[in-house]
Amino acid sequence: KDDVKAFFRRNAFVIFTVAAVIIGIGLGFALRPYKMTYREVKYFSFPGELLMRMLQMLVLPLLVSSLITGIAALDSRASGKMGMRAVVYYMTTTVIAVFIGIVMVLIIHPGKGSKDEFKNQQKIEQVSPADAFLDLIRNMFPPNIVQACTQQFKTQYGKRVVHVKMTVNDTSFVLNGTKEQHIMREEVIPIPGQVNGVNALGLVVFSICFGLIIGSMKEQGKPLKDFFVCLNEAIMRLVAIIMWYAPVGILFLIAGKIVEMDDITETGGQLAMYTITVIIGLSIHAFLVLPTLYFVITRKNPFVFICGILQALITALGTSSSSATLPITFKCLEENNGVDKRVTRFVLPVGATINMDGTALYEAIAALFIAQVNNMDMNFGQILTISITATAASIGAAGIPQAGLVTMVIVLTSVGLPTDDITLIIAVDWFLDRLRTTTNVLGDSIGTGIVAYLSRHELQSKDAEMGNSVVEE
Ligand code: ASP
Repeated sequence: KDDVKAFFRRNAFVIFTVAAVIIGIGLGFALRPYKMTYREVKYFSFPGELLMRMLQMLVLPLLVSSLITGIAALDSRASGKMGMRAVVYYMTTTVIAVFIGIVMVLIIHPGKGSKDEFKNQQKIEQVSPADAFLDLIRNMFPPNIVQACTQQFKTQYGKRVVHVKMTVNDTSFVLNGTKEQHIMREEVIPIPGQVNGVNALGLVVFSICFGLIIGSMKEQGKPLKDFFVCLNEAIMRLVAIIMWYAPVGILFLIAGKIVEMDDITETGGQLAMYTITVIIGLSIHAFLVLPTLYFVITRKNPFVFICGILQALITALGTSSSSATLPITFKCLEENNGVDKRVTRFVLPVGATINMDGTALYEAIAALFIAQVNNMDMNFGQILTISITATAASIGAAGIPQAGLVTMVIVLTSVGLPTDDITLIIAVDWFLDRLRTTTNVLGDSIGTGIVAYLSRHELQSKDAEMGNSVVEE
């Protein structure tokens, strides 16, 4: 009996979170027949909106303080090595993900048939890949660091897709009865409550540089370093409190979305096949490739590792945002999986910002799917271009809901596919977004685990050095 109690106590978070998902799904389907208005759905999902807001509130200080403390705690050689390992891991897994996506979409060929099957075809303006690429680089260097904290990571072309998205779908949730107002709803973030994203990429670049400098300043940099260490610790304590609320929020986020979603049975055959293709691709990457990679490198059981981060994965599923999930991912990795804080602090925020395997895989599939429904054959060169741009687009996508849909424009334009056709896949995107976000968070977490394992000798020698210096003192 004591064993059972101990088990529950140890796994309380996970048990609550899993229960929240199950109850949320049940409640959502139970309430669907009542056809709530948009306003009622908003009221109903309010507890979920609060969770999103709380998590988002912590992301910015957490991202900056963890990166600065993580990097300042290492010497430049150690952080350089660790950074290299992380980047090699990010690139390798993203390329594998794109490859899986391409193989799947070519084998399954979900775009068979004609394009007439689709409703909701809209116009989107063209955007040149060069502009999109420059946007990505621009965002790495925010001219105003304070503004970067309040600005959404937005590319110059993003708005157009967002606008188109707002004009599609049914009108059953019209706020005051006019189409215009339906359009105005925050459709770009398909869950209640907009995520107030920040220019994460810019802040990551700044924090890494800042951390390196503080680290190199030795004694002189100590007050600043202590400040960020303290800030980081305080934020993590806040995270610990929010974690208790997370299951409630997740329950309402999921239930609210199910109440609100369009009728799935209306989804056409091609779109259903496309959805299945993405799901199979993501599953192969998440359940086969990443665990195998973890096992081959660390010789440890990957599924034990995954159990440790279950709460983060479910939060990703509930929020569709890897950056909102970041605080929970930190907690899970450090407390459940015992990953060294010096590694999580450095590697995790970078991963959450640039490493998106799920997004890359999905972008490759979506682009080739759109080629298929247009009966356009892609040659090897074009497929290669799609692979490269899908990788870039996944790096450029912010960790917020449906960011991947926006950066898809880069992939489509690079091979001359009609960008308007993004609207073909919008109907199912909210769902695929949740799955790819979960894969993204899994990829970041496993990457952090692998980098920690590979960096263990340096960390140990650093510990020994510190121990020695304490003795010397
Ligand atoms: N929602 C995803 C994330 O936060 C990004 C995407 O839209 O693919 O990781």
